[in-house]
Amino acid sequence: MATLTRDVRKPTIPITEIEQSAFCRTDESLKSKTLEEEFKAGVRWQKLPIEYLKLKPEVLEARITERKKELGTRLLMLGHHYQRDEVIKFADLRGDSFKLSQFAATQREAEYIVFCGVHFMAETADILTSPGQKVILPNLTAGCSMADMAQIDDVLDCWDDLQDVLADDGGIIPITYMNSTAAIKALCGRNNGIVCTSSNAAATFKWALTQGQRILFLPDQHLGRNTGLKLGIGLDEMLVWNPFKPLGGHTREAIRKAKLILWQGHCSVHTRFTPKQIEQARAKYPDVRVVVHPECTKETVDMADCNGSTEYIIKVISESKPGSVWAVGTEISLVNRIAQENPDKTVFCLDSVVCPCSTMYRIHPAYLLWVLDGLAEGVVVNRITVDEQTAAEARVALDRMLSVV
Ligand code: SF4
Repeated sequence: MATLTRDVRKPTIPITEIEQSAFCRTDESLKSKTLEEEFKAGVRWQKLPIEYLKLKPEVLEARITERKKELGTRLLMLGHHYQRDEVIKFADLRGDSFKLSQFAATQREAEYIVFCGVHFMAETADILTSPGQKVILPNLTAGCSMADMAQIDDVLDCWDDLQDVLADDGGIIPITYMNSTAAIKALCGRNNGIVCTSSNAAATFKWALTQGQRILFLPDQHLGRNTGLKLGIGLDEMLVWNPFKPLGGHTREAIRKAKLILWQGHCSVHTRFTPKQIEQARAKYPDVRVVVHPECTKETVDMADCNGSTEYIIKVISESKPGSVWAVGTEISLVNRIAQENPDKTVFCLDSVVCPCSTMYRIHPAYLLWVLDGLAEGVVVNRITVDEQTAAEARVALDRMLSVV
């Protein structure tokens, strides 16, 4: 029985979260070094041939440019907004995770899709592209600490428990954030659930509440809580499911009373932003506008002037008046890029410590060159595949999202 095994388990912090601060620095310089130098950061790196370790940034740039030209339209390179400049400059399209995957699905000509992002994004691209297309993640250790916090076995245990407790008490609809494994998207697909992004979370919640009395939201408790509050669900109607405790740490009665069950997961990057940082920004710049991502805590979101997805943050700043001042609570590579692209405005990160998403940051240009060299020679390195059944069920939850929003 699932609860018995949970009793004896010790909570563990996913390794990627421990590694999350590995690239934090105070000198504001995020310029890439050789991979050999970057190996000194205390994170796991995928092994690759030794010749790539010492290549200087300018050599890498020239060789990647050459390989890209050689592969032509057989290659499509996608870059998530949180990628470092030295990588995203090669992307044929930049975007958030879903925009990139959707785009990949329309590009039937490309044989190889090199996804400069993290693992769950490459999985989604594989689910949405045609069988002949190969999706490649340049470094297999580029995961996501938030996605790691919802392991499929724990989620299956939780789902079984909820079915048991709520069997005769209205339905529960599972919603998973895009930032989750294909296996969790598949669970949602086969249980009348849905996938959401940070821009359409509210619409999917509204839809779910027409289908059942409750929602199980995975894996980010903060996005779930902030969205629930926006829709008028009270904090007293929410509970957080701790996978390391029997029944998530709750009584059967409390579960039956809840309208929104939040998985105990979070983004290590966005939870760094605090109300205190907002106070400091306002003390320094009285006219500052504060925009944060809804993966931030409730307290931070409450204190900000506005909040929204990565695409929303880019839009709201680029459409603001010249001379505007913006303090931004999202990943630093993106904040720096928005600042460069809006020279008529003052744009800065709420956190004075420069802290990139450590898993995104693991796509070093040397890995990019390594996979492109392989493709040019007909060798596919680091292909990401999702098995057919999981992909079919996950596609149901993704298609449902597209029909709802
Ligand atoms: S920013 Fe947060 S949610 Fe996004 S990939 Fe990094 S750890 Fe995951």
